[in-house]
Amino acid sequence: MSFPTYSSYEELLSAIDAGDSGREILNPATGERIGFADTDSVEDLNAAVTRAREAFASFATTTHEQRSAMLNAAADAIEANAEPLAQLLSREQGKPLNGPNARFEVGACSSWLRATASFELEPEVIVDDGETYSTMTYRPLGVVGAIGPWNWPMMITVWQVAPALRMGNTVVVKPSEYTPLSVKALVHLIATAVPEGVLNYVSGDRELGAALSKHPDVDKLMFTGSTSTGQKIIEASAPTYKRLTLELGGNDAGIVLDDVDPAAIAEGLFWGAFINTGQTCAALKRLYVPESIYDEVVNALAEFAKNVPMGEGLDENNVLGPLQNKAQYDIVADLVQKAKDSGARVVIGGDPEEGQKGYFYPTTLVADIDPDNALVVEEQFGPALPIVRYSTVDEAIDLANSLDVGLGSSVWSADRERALSVAERLRAGTTWINNHGAVDPRIPFGGSGHSGYGVEFGIEGLKGLGQPHVITG
Ligand code: NAD
Repeated sequence: MSFPTYSSYEELLSAIDAGDSGREILNPATGERIGFADTDSVEDLNAAVTRAREAFASFATTTHEQRSAMLNAAADAIEANAEPLAQLLSREQGKPLNGPNARFEVGACSSWLRATASFELEPEVIVDDGETYSTMTYRPLGVVGAIGPWNWPMMITVWQVAPALRMGNTVVVKPSEYTPLSVKALVHLIATAVPEGVLNYVSGDRELGAALSKHPDVDKLMFTGSTSTGQKIIEASAPTYKRLTLELGGNDAGIVLDDVDPAAIAEGLFWGAFINTGQTCAALKRLYVPESIYDEVVNALAEFAKNVPMGEGLDENNVLGPLQNKAQYDIVADLVQKAKDSGARVVIGGDPEEGQKGYFYPTTLVADIDPDNALVVEEQFGPALPIVRYSTVDEAIDLANSLDVGLGSSVWSADRERALSVAERLRAGTTWINNHGAVDPRIPFGGSGHSGYGVEFGIEGLKGLGQPHVITG
């Protein structure tokens, strides 16, 4: 397969017809218009599902080797266009080009595609005892609907699309209405590596997402987004028995144990909480620190945080950017205000500039905050970290486990055995030790409780995009 190469993000926008009509998309750092999004109707969605259904019959008969080759070809197309993709992503999402941001996200797209191409899913022999021989294989499911959020729009689309294609399904992608152009450009490039009709794109708001989630000819939904939307999707998809993978909101706890060197963990804690300016599902969103080293940890974190540059994404020096949209900015500002009103101590930040053109909220650390404060128990999804004091490890574990959500969590300690004994007691899909949020295409990732169900990544992730088929005899 051959793929186009674009020398600039403008050329890429023109190739995806985002240049002159549709819904205006603005750069959240500057308010400048960067392009126009399609406003697809339910009829357009129906046509996309029909194309996917028609393409399925033949695509389902391709082999794992053929589909792996297609994923590698898609990775080639992304790598050849990495800079225009990153330039577009930075302008639309707001995240800086550098740091763990736009260029990093585009790089993750190709590496996830290659990793997903490399996994080997062998038929499983379940019983072979001389009397019974039973095997289980995974067949393609059919048409997969992929509905995504605006925080890591390209990478999450790949998380949904790569395993779906690898397993022989066809796909209809419906990105967030906040970041449709980055995803359209990505889908345009991946589509060059697969047969016509296999990968489809529709653009619209929550109503279009709702139509996709109840569409009778869609077999499975890969959904990443908020917990409340996840519940609506469960309800809407129930009458047609769709399979679901739900990656929903989280409010990840991190527990620091009293044996750490505060200065040594400050950088890891910072990026665990503030990666993508806090707009990350599995970011550290509430930090529990023991009384004995509380001030040292808070001060070390503040010392690191105050030197990390925030600003417009196209400035190569910045590694933190704006909130992606006004609604998210208001949520963060409101939660920090509630914390201030309750008497919590703002260590740094908490004072956004009035009248600025972008949705910049400064890096904020809030100390001496009650464990039941709204900034602690609600998902802030932005650059404001509450730091709660605790006196016993049992108390910290109880506080960490006290919410309905459970996506990620972390334990920070110089003693691995001690950290493991705490990690085993945390209710979450993943617990990291001395790290928070490091995902890996080989390692399953998913939520517990209201953070969703099903896992992505690795062999387990592939199985979620297949229909198990047992043959016994
Ligand atoms: P959101 O739920 O508002 O929107 C996500 C997507 O769902 C969008 O494409 C939207 O158009 C669509 N949608 C909205 N209503 C719908 C409906 N009724 N039916 C079908 N689709 C509908 O979420 P968001 O604000 O874009 O994303 C932020 C949230 O996503 C945070 O809570 C974050 O924690 C979560 N998230 C989770 C993960 C994870 O892997 N668990 C990853 C990233 C983000």
